Amino acid sequence: MIGIESLAGAAFDTDGVLTDTAALHAMAWKAAFDDLLRGLPGSTAEEARAPFDIATDYPRHVDGRSREDGVRGFLASRGLESLDEEAIVRLATRKDRIYLALLRHEGAPPRPGVVDLLVALRGLGVATAVVSASRHCERVVAAAGLTDLFDVRVDGVEAARLRLPGKPDPALFLEAARRLGATPARTMVVEDALVGVQAGRDGGFSPVVGVDRGAGAAELRAHGADVVVADLTELAPLLGL
Ligand SMILES: [Mg+2]
Repeated sequence: MIGIESLAGAAFDTDGVLTDTAALHAMAWKAAFDDLLRGLPGSTAEEARAPFDIATDYPRHVDGRSREDGVRGFLASRGLESLDEEAIVRLATRKDRIYLALLRHEGAPPRPGVVDLLVALRGLGVATAVVSASRHCERVVAAAGLTDLFDVRVDGVEAARLRLPGKPDPALFLEAARRLGATPARTMVVEDALVGVQAGRDGGFSPVVGVDRGAGAAELRAHGADVVVADLTELAPLLGL
């Protein structure tokens, strides 16, 4: 059981905790790369021209990397390193535009238990923050219909403006707690990434909740999670909600 009466704030990671946008990213990459691959000269090896495979190419070459590094990684895997920097940036920009269009069109539904938990916390006077390294955080939160359930947002736009280092540095979470007017010791961090739970622990947050979306419970605990849940429906009862 986590003592809800001692909680003053709660800070939530975005992707993997509140929503799942990985599928939209994968679709956007496929659209952008397949367009490029179709345009390659017929003399290019057939294996190099095969369409982008979401099941294998996405996790191996682009997931978790910056857009430009994703482009470079995938092209290198096809032996297509000859593209110049300008073309790489153009392709990365195109992927980003497709992703935003998909986000507008498909939306990003909240993960199970998210809305109920946020409503319950706020009802008990616990202030809520959304934290993300993404510059698109505001749009993702809006697409999930969660905008009004957060008091504070610290995202990639703010991080760049304030020159805050990314996770595992706790800077983003510390900025969120500061804006919530809550000490880290009385602020819950909810994260699905190992670098995220590590940031929670190193920032002195309590409790640090790990959401296991594939990182593994043991690994999440080793990086600083006090509690591990599969999704937020499991967190509410631990808070006595
Ligand atoms: Mg995440």
